[in-house]
Amino acid sequence: MRTTQRITIEQIQTAADLLIAGKLVAFPTETVYGLGADALNPHAVKRIFEAKGRPSDNPLIAHIASHEQLRQLAIEVSPLAKLLIERFWPGPLTLVMDKDPDLPDDLTAGLDTVAVRMPEDPIALDLIRRVGRPIVAPSANRSGRPSATTWESVLIDLDGRIDGVLCGPPTRIGLESTVVDTTTDEPVILRHGAITQEMIQRVWPSGRSSSTHLGLGPIPGSNGPAASEVQVDFARRSPGTRHRHYQPKARVVLFDSIDQLGELPLAVGILAIASKSDLHAIESDLSGKYPGAKLCVCSSFDDYAGRLFEFFRECDLENVPTIYCQRVELSGLGRAIMDRLDRAAG
Ligand code: AMP
Ligand code: MG
Repeated sequence: MRTTQRITIEQIQTAADLLIAGKLVAFPTETVYGLGADALNPHAVKRIFEAKGRPSDNPLIAHIASHEQLRQLAIEVSPLAKLLIERFWPGPLTLVMDKDPDLPDDLTAGLDTVAVRMPEDPIALDLIRRVGRPIVAPSANRSGRPSATTWESVLIDLDGRIDGVLCGPPTRIGLESTVVDTTTDEPVILRHGAITQEMIQRVWPSGRSSSTHLGLGPIPGSNGPAASEVQVDFARRSPGTRHRHYQPKARVVLFDSIDQLGELPLAVGILAIASKSDLHAIESDLSGKYPGAKLCVCSSFDDYAGRLFEFFRECDLENVPTIYCQRVELSGLGRAIMDRLDRAAG
C-alpha cells in the first residue's frame, strides 16, 4: 500500500515530476479523470494495468499535447486521420493509427496499432507539456467500475494504489472519448463519445459505426459488410469492448418511459430525462410516487452524460440495490449514453 499524494493545481509541477519518474498520477481531462503514466516507460505502463486490475489485452490511449509527439507513436498518419485531427483536435476524439514498432508492447496490448488523443482540457495539456512525453491515461477507476469524473471518486477506487491525484474540477463531458479506427479507407467508430457519429459523418460522409447500436454495421444506404462480419471484425479491432465495463455495485435496469416504472421497492435509484419545461413536474411526480428513491432527472443529453457515472457512484455509497435508468434516443450523444447504459446493465 503506497500513499497517494493529493496534489493541488498550483502544484502541477509535482505531478509532472512524479510522471517523469515513472510514477502513476491521476489527472482531469474534459472526458473523465485519466490515470497517467509515461507512455514510453514500459515499467510505468505495466503498473497501470496492476493498479486498475485491467485485463492485459485491453490497450491504452496515449495522450499528447503537440503534433510532434504524434511522431513518437504512429508510423503513419493517414489522410483520413489528418482530416479528423484538423477538425477535432484538441478534443474528445481518440484515433487508432498504425504504431511505431518500438512502442512498449503493453501499451498496445500486442496490436500493431496505437490509440492517440490530444485532450483540450487546459490542465491535462499543461501536465503533458511539462512531462514532455506522451502520457497513457485510461479512465482512473478500478477496471469494470464506472469511470471517475471527480478526484474524490478516483480516490474511492485507487487510494493507496497510485502515487498521486491532481485535484482539479469535475470533468466537463463525463463520458470517455470517441474512439475511431483510421487505419482503413473510412472511419469506423469503435466507441461512441462526445464527438458524435453525425459530426464525423459531416467531415467524412461514409463514416460508420461498429457499435451494437447501429444495427452493427454500415449506415443505411451504404454497401458495407454484413452485420455478423462487422461484429467479428469489431471484437478484434477494439479489444476493450469485450470486457465488463461501467458497472456500479447496484443492479442496473433500463426503462423507456416513466409511466412504465410501476411499483418499485422503497430504496432504488432513478435516473431519468425530461425536457427543461417538464423537469420540475417530473421531479415532483417521481418524488411523490417513490418517496424513498434517490432521484436524478436530467434536462438534456449533455446533462445525462455529465451526471451518469457520479449518480452510479452515489447510489453505491448508499448501498442502493437497483438503479433504474431511462433509455435515450440513439442520436448524437445519445449513442454514447446508451452504449454505457447497456454495458452497465450487463
Ligand atoms: P480507457 O482508456 O479505459 O478509456 O479505454 C481505452 C479504449 O480504447 C478501450 O476501449 C480500448 O479497447 C481502445 N483502444 C486502445 N487502443 C486501441 C487500439 N490500438 N485499437 C483499438 N482500440 C483501442
Ligand atoms: Mg475505462
